[in-house]
Amino acid sequence: MKIYNTMTQNKEEFIPITPGVVKMYVCGPTVYNFFHIGNARTFIIFDSVRRYFEYRGYKVEYVQNFTDIDDRMITKANEDGITIKELGDRFISEYYKDADGLNIERATANPRATEYIIEIVKFVEDLINKGYAYEIDGDVYYSTKEFQAYGKLSGQDLEQLESGIRINVDERKKDPMDFAIWKKQKVGEPGWESPWGMGRPGWHIECSCMALNLLGETIDIHAGGMDLVFPHHENEIAQSEGRTGKTFANYWMHAAYLNVNNQKMSKSLNNFLTAREALEKFDAEVIRLLMLSAHYRTQLNYSMDLLESAKSGLERLYNSIENLQSLLELSKIDNLKDDENQYMDNLNSYKEKYIKKMDDDFNTADAISVIFDLIKDVNINLNIHSSKEILKYSLDLIRELGGPLGILQKSTKVNLEDEIEKLIEKREKARKEKNFQLSDKIRDDLKAEGITLLDTPQGVRWKKA
Ligand code: AMP
Ligand code: ZN
Repeated sequence: MKIYNTMTQNKEEFIPITPGVVKMYVCGPTVYNFFHIGNARTFIIFDSVRRYFEYRGYKVEYVQNFTDIDDRMITKANEDGITIKELGDRFISEYYKDADGLNIERATANPRATEYIIEIVKFVEDLINKGYAYEIDGDVYYSTKEFQAYGKLSGQDLEQLESGIRINVDERKKDPMDFAIWKKQKVGEPGWESPWGMGRPGWHIECSCMALNLLGETIDIHAGGMDLVFPHHENEIAQSEGRTGKTFANYWMHAAYLNVNNQKMSKSLNNFLTAREALEKFDAEVIRLLMLSAHYRTQLNYSMDLLESAKSGLERLYNSIENLQSLLELSKIDNLKDDENQYMDNLNSYKEKYIKKMDDDFNTADAISVIFDLIKDVNINLNIHSSKEILKYSLDLIRELGGPLGILQKSTKVNLEDEIEKLIEKREKARKEKNFQLSDKIRDDLKAEGITLLDTPQGVRWKKA
């Protein structure tokens, strides 16, 4: 598999630190509000990256943080007259509702900055002891000049960076590029005890600290939106590598923006649509299809029309799935016919093409085209005279290829009830034969679909959660 690495600006072969395992850290949301579909694009992209690694047999340790202390959190909590803890709790729970709604798989861990204060203080102390940071009157700054490689991710050297910033910065800093890793408590702000008095962590330090604690000194992939390359990720590298002396992340992945009228969708520009609003009008799979229909390093200009066309695209895919399901019911031939062997090879060639596209830096745009080509082919070539085996194979393949993208996973309504009844019958048979492994699996599979089986005196009943 090849991944475009922002650090080297090249596509590189992916070689994990531990064979078969991917350690991945994705910068998550600041939990002061609902997230918008711009944020959702980044979350969906990396969810698909994770799902694809899993599809290819990797175990993925996926960490995405919640920033629950920063200026925006403090301002919003003060406005609402609640604590930052209450604000964080509320919007973390809203985050899960929307992220689950978008079929984003739960991360292995979602650490909160405020739960890592002790570790962050230790991190800051270590940087001071190593000469990478200095304290001035309760604030602690990272000394960028001490870190030789500062600027390596964004491809700039310190002088270029300095000439690019307006110098209305804190006079007390040794260098304008130095950044706060610990901030002294101000009136009306929350604070935690530290060797430098009451204060709170700077933004960048939380990710360095939580990545280290949850994934180790060197991780495979660090990811986030393009806006994080500088300064956030540059500063994370300075902190982490300053502390450990090891490479922080082997691959840096950055997702391009979702734009509105060629401007980044953002809260500050007030040009956003929340994920919640989008989900009220469109199915999660429509939103995912739209977000993944462009390569992740290409900007995507959002419009309602694009969502509408993703909706009709998804309908075409589901029509084909439903059509195959009906044919499967109607077909009288169980096993593969001789002349279908070749068609089986043809189906497999779509899978190969799909894998080739996804292996090439997660080209979801081309992978989606492969799925559309596949359904076109199936629509033309399979019919009532096809065997159940080839029909089932095609159906499974379409769903399989949708898996890493988080689409085509819905049970289709037409056959839902029949399907459940059939599975119940199969489970009854398994139970009679004392094949409890199979009967339990069927019950669990149904449960995963939200279907609960009830054993009643009148026989097995089912209900949808
Ligand atoms: P924030 O809550 O602003 O810290 O953002 C959370 C994540 O969403 C970060 O990875 C950002 O880079 C990403 N993000 C923010 N706005 C957009 C956008 N318009 N398009 C894509 N990703 C975005
Ligand atoms: Zn981060």
